[in-house]
Amino acid sequence: MNLTKAFLADLGAFGALVPEEYEGAGMNNTQMARLAELVGANDLGLGVMMGAHQSIGYKGILLYGSEEQKKKYLPDLATGRKFASFCLTEPSSGSDANSIRTRAELSPDGKHYLINGNKIWISNGGFAKVFTVFAQTPVKQADGTTKDKVSAFIVERDFGGVTSGQGEKKMGIKGSNTVEVHFENVKVPVENLLGGEGNGFKVAMNILNNGRFGIPAACTGAMKHCIMKTVEHVSSRTQFGKKLMEFGDVQEKLADMIVRHYVTESIVYMLAGSMDKGVTDYQLEAAIGKIAASDNAWIVCDNAIQLHGGMGFMTETGLERVLRDLRIFKIFEGANDVLRLFVSLTGSQHAGKHLQQLASDIKAGGISSLFGEVKRRTK
Ligand SMILES: Cc1cc2nc3c(=O)[nH]c(=O)nc-3n(C[C@H](O)[C@H](O)[C@H](O)COP(=O)(O)OP(=O)(O)OC[C@H]3O[C@@H](n4cnc5c(N)ncnc54)[C@H](O)[C@@H]3O)c2cc1C
Repeated sequence: MNLTKAFLADLGAFGALVPEEYEGAGMNNTQMARLAELVGANDLGLGVMMGAHQSIGYKGILLYGSEEQKKKYLPDLATGRKFASFCLTEPSSGSDANSIRTRAELSPDGKHYLINGNKIWISNGGFAKVFTVFAQTPVKQADGTTKDKVSAFIVERDFGGVTSGQGEKKMGIKGSNTVEVHFENVKVPVENLLGGEGNGFKVAMNILNNGRFGIPAACTGAMKHCIMKTVEHVSSRTQFGKKLMEFGDVQEKLADMIVRHYVTESIVYMLAGSMDKGVTDYQLEAAIGKIAASDNAWIVCDNAIQLHGGMGFMTETGLERVLRDLRIFKIFEGANDVLRLFVSLTGSQHAGKHLQQLASDIKAGGISSLFGEVKRRTK
């Protein structure tokens, strides 16, 4: 892994989206997607390690960091001299990210925060030196009351009080490091607040949205790998006196795999391309892309194993590892079930806004609005 890290660092692969002025590779989102696709085709565990570092680990600094924060942290992170982790999940808080219990209290002299709390399943957490940590902070409201709100912080392991647990034993992505990270009276300078006090939930969601094309891109690569292996197999294996590819059912399965791959790849590059053009309202497409990619990749890999027959079940074929690695993509960075809710709620929000307007028009005595609406819908 160390050799791989050195090789990738040399290529600039740990700072793909970081501008050159901070020692990054200065790529755009489309180029980054291509990189994630290539890595995903070869090793999804390595893809998770790279994504946890740059797509979520230090993405907050890139998106919300002040000039001082960028100058201080990005060069080491973009070159792989240091690695980063994204610390949101806790034992009692997963999908419901707003309910985290980790706390950050401002010192009486207002110079630093004291962070206390426990995070679990943190990718790269065992070796990261820089952490984007989310914690509850008491925030003064306009009416003078105080309310707990999530804030984001840049925390260095060297601040002291940061410890990490043993690597978790997992079903897949075994090449990636997943650990508990504990923060005990960690003294964090106020300059390391990221995105402003009380804005941490927005920071977390925007980091996840912004990096969300990475998972579909990696899944696209994995699907391509499965399809290529399957095409090779069905065109060389003979049963009942024919090549497997001559059977209609085999062709149908293969066609289905290719369609799923094409659809996913199209979403990835539409999304990355839109972001490169400066589109900022892409969270719906990103959520749809993540759901579609992880579901499609799972089906494609399962069909690849099926078409390999018993060989597909054998470790040496390599597909069982891809299937195990792919399983997590339906769960992390927003469980697909929760993202489905987000997609449907976003859709109904639009309808809701429209109906709200209609209701207030009618209330204001404009019954003709109702007829107008009926006419519009009939049309
Ligand atoms: C290998 C690995 C690496 C990870 N890396 C990181 C990391 O680097 N940083 C980090 O902060 N976290 C990380 N995580 C945590 C990951 O993001 C969470 O596991 C994920 O957000 C889901 O939270 P949970 O596991 O607590 O599941 P829960 O929130 O308990 O949900 C369990 C299941 O219930 C269902 N569900 C929950 N809520 C709803 C709802 N509202 N509607 C419908 N269904 C629902 C879903 O099916 C969901 O999968 C990692 C996890 C794993 C396993």
